[in-house]
Amino acid sequence: MKRTRHFASITQKTPADAFTDVHTHFEGAIPADFFMKEFSAHPQYPHPDRLRLPVYNDMTDFARCWCGRMVYLSTPDAIRRAARMLAADLERNHVAAVIMHFSPDEYFRHDLTAGTVAGAIQDGFRMSNVVCRLIIDCVRDNGPDHTGRMVEEALLLRNAGVIGIGLGGDESAHPAGEFRQSFRKAKSGGLLTTAHCGELSVESVVDAAEQLDIRRVVHGYRAADDPAVIRMLAEKGIAVEVCLSSYACMYGGRPMSTHPLMKLITGGVDIIIGTDDADMFTTTIAREYTLLGDLVGNDDRIVESIRNASDRCRMYSGRVHINATFLTSG
Ligand SMILES: [Zn+2]
Repeated sequence: MKRTRHFASITQKTPADAFTDVHTHFEGAIPADFFMKEFSAHPQYPHPDRLRLPVYNDMTDFARCWCGRMVYLSTPDAIRRAARMLAADLERNHVAAVIMHFSPDEYFRHDLTAGTVAGAIQDGFRMSNVVCRLIIDCVRDNGPDHTGRMVEEALLLRNAGVIGIGLGGDESAHPAGEFRQSFRKAKSGGLLTTAHCGELSVESVVDAAEQLDIRRVVHGYRAADDPAVIRMLAEKGIAVEVCLSSYACMYGGRPMSTHPLMKLITGGVDIIIGTDDADMFTTTIAREYTLLGDLVGNDDRIVESIRNASDRCRMYSGRVHINATFLTSG
C-alpha cells in the first residue's frame, strides 16, 4: 500500500489534527458564499463570477478581481459578516489558527481605518474557535512615509490581534531599502516583519533580507536561481512562506512541479505553508499540505524544515503557539 503522509501545524491548545495557515490574506480568502449572498442584496456590485479566475495571466487580472472584492467590504458590518463566514469556513476545514494579512490601503477609499477593519475582522472571528492574528500589509507603491504610519498603527492595535507588518506591491519599482526605517521600528516594537519578494527577481530577496532584517519572506521563488542566495537564507535562518496553489495559478499558470521547493529545502532553507488567497486560488490549507506531500514524497528533511520554521513563528506570534506535527497514515 502506498504510504501517504500528512503534515499539519497545530496551536498549543488545539487538536492534533488541526491546521494553522501561516500565510493568508483576508480579502482573498473570503469564501464565495459571502459574495453570492451579498450580491442578491446588492445587484449593482460586481458579479461573484468576476471575483476569481482559474488562472491569472498577470497582476492586472488579479488586481481586477481583488478590487471587485473590495466593493463588497465598504462598511464595518460587511467586513464583520465576511469575517464570520470565513471563520466558519476555516472551522469546517479544521483550521485552528490563521496568521492573516489585511491591506488597510484598500479600505481608505471607504473611509475605514486600520483599527476599524482589524476590529471588525476580530468581531467576525469571535463566534468561532479559530484564532486570528493579523498582519498589516503595506503596499510598496504608497511609499515609506505611508508604511511608517502603518507601523505606528500596528503598534497601537495589539489588542485587536495585530502582530506584524508586511510589505507587498511592486518589488521591482520600490526596493526594500526605502522601508528600512519603518521595519526597524516595527521590529524593535516587537512586531513580526515579513515581505513579499522574489516573485520577479532574486535581487529583491537579497534586498529584503539585507535591508529589512526579516525572518520570513513570502514566495521567494527566485531565490532558488542563485545558490549563494539559498545559502544566505539558510545561514540567516530566514524561512520562506510557500503557497503552492498561488504559484500554480499566477502568471498564466505554472506546473506545480516547477516550484523550486526542493532546491530551497535541500539548501537548508526552512519553509512554512500557507494558502495566500484561498478563495481566489480555490484551495484550503489541507489541500496545500496534500500538494506538498505529492511534490516531495516521504522526505524527513521537510518535516524538520517545517518544525524549525514553525518554532520561529512561535517567537513572533504572541499567544498563537505554533508547533508542527507530522502524522503518518496509510
Ligand atoms: Zn501573500
